[in-house]
Amino acid sequence: MPLKLFNTLTREKEEFEPKEEGKVKFYSCGQTIYDDLHIGNARPYAVWDTLRRYLEWKGFTVRHVQNITDVGHLTDDGDQGEDKVEKRAKELGLEPMELVEDQIERYFEDTQAINVERQDIVPRATGHLNEMINYIEKIIENGYAYEREGNVYFDIDAFVKDYPYGEMAKKDLEQLKKEAESRVEEDSKKKNQYDFALWLNAEGTGHLMKWESPWSTGYPGWHLECSVMGQKYLGDEFDIHAGGKDHIFPHHPNERAQCFAATGEGQARYWLHNEFIQWEGEKMSKSKGNFVTVRDLLDEGYSGNALRLYLVSSHYRSETNFSREGFEKAEKELKKLKRTLKRVEKSGQEGENVLEEETEKLRKRFEEEMDDDLNTANAKQELMEYINSVNAALDQNSDANTGEAKQVLEELFEILGVELREDKEESELVETLLELRESARENEDYETSDFIRDRLGEIGFEIEDTDEGAIWVES
Ligand code: AMP
Ligand code: ZN
Repeated sequence: MPLKLFNTLTREKEEFEPKEEGKVKFYSCGQTIYDDLHIGNARPYAVWDTLRRYLEWKGFTVRHVQNITDVGHLTDDGDQGEDKVEKRAKELGLEPMELVEDQIERYFEDTQAINVERQDIVPRATGHLNEMINYIEKIIENGYAYEREGNVYFDIDAFVKDYPYGEMAKKDLEQLKKEAESRVEEDSKKKNQYDFALWLNAEGTGHLMKWESPWSTGYPGWHLECSVMGQKYLGDEFDIHAGGKDHIFPHHPNERAQCFAATGEGQARYWLHNEFIQWEGEKMSKSKGNFVTVRDLLDEGYSGNALRLYLVSSHYRSETNFSREGFEKAEKELKKLKRTLKRVEKSGQEGENVLEEETEKLRKRFEEEMDDDLNTANAKQELMEYINSVNAALDQNSDANTGEAKQVLEELFEILGVELREDKEESELVETLLELRESARENEDYETSDFIRDRLGEIGFEIEDTDEGAIWVES
């Protein structure tokens, strides 16, 4: 079955065909690294990780690149304001790179906690200054950029004579011009206010992160790094470029324009954007201060698996409201899932497979939903219904043969990033204690058997006596 993805460029769900058969080259815009990951930021990373897992499950070989922005992202998301990393470092009395080192470590801990696998390449902007400078030179050479007082600007008027601009945002030039004039403080060095910076002169500005260049000692514009690192690791034209909805303008159109200007190619063929996680009707964001970090939620006691399940329980293009009920629901669903897997493990698996049809239907429906622009919400729903069928079959006969129920649940939940594999040593220890409890019960030593159950409960293993025997689920 073909995978369809909603391409923001055309506003249509398009059949996905990679440029090179069987191989997918995929770039997603990563974190600006100055603060901890909030659950809103975490959405794109969880979703793009799910997309990569799904593509691999469908048999593609994927190269996934996701950058880390450690310079150039200014507080106004354009070319004015302070560098976000520097600003935070100054507040904390740190060197920018001290902050970056610390935050990168925390970022990987947080993404790992929600089962985001580290991408194949995680390039940092500050490691690609030479490439960025060469890239700007190419754009100037091709006639689409100009230098003014040590700054270099992208020349929109020259560019639109040869290439499209604003198509991704569905904005015409007049509109963009008006918006630029009203949005930013006037920059008299620009030919037109909608031109954007490729290089900014740091001399006399107090800017700490700066490098020598042919134009000035300065630093790159924010949009440049993704054009440059995308090209370096994936080529002039690759398959998928993904990011948050806020990148529909200006980040992605500007990236794409730089790519056309330097290479003649529009960089990616499918442009994917996730909707926001909202907080009381507003985008959850660091700048507004209305956010909860992944770390806070883990400290509150939610498991990384539950946060991941929450993130994939909605479709990535739907606006979702942040709620603790959402996490609690995910915890309950996880418990139900784990309990079901335990019941299956304990069942005798006798006779004919009673779930053959259901399992086949699940595989088919799961794939159809995921093929439909990665509809993880419906795909998960299919899985939850299947769990009900497994339980119903075991309620009827605790030794029913449920076939490959366990494998299929583990396999498909893994695509969603929900890890069900248990720590082998830990589960053997718990099983051993349950055997001791069972023998205490046989000897009518209920004091010991209750003690074992209560102690296990206290350290997070809930014990339940079912028709299939005693089962345990981590609470
Ligand atoms: P930032 O740290 O603001 O650069 O954001 C990192 C990524 O997370 C970008 O792709 C943003 O579009 C995305 N993002 C930021 N806030 C949210 C949110 N509330 N919901 C979903 N995605 C978000
Ligand atoms: Zn980017």
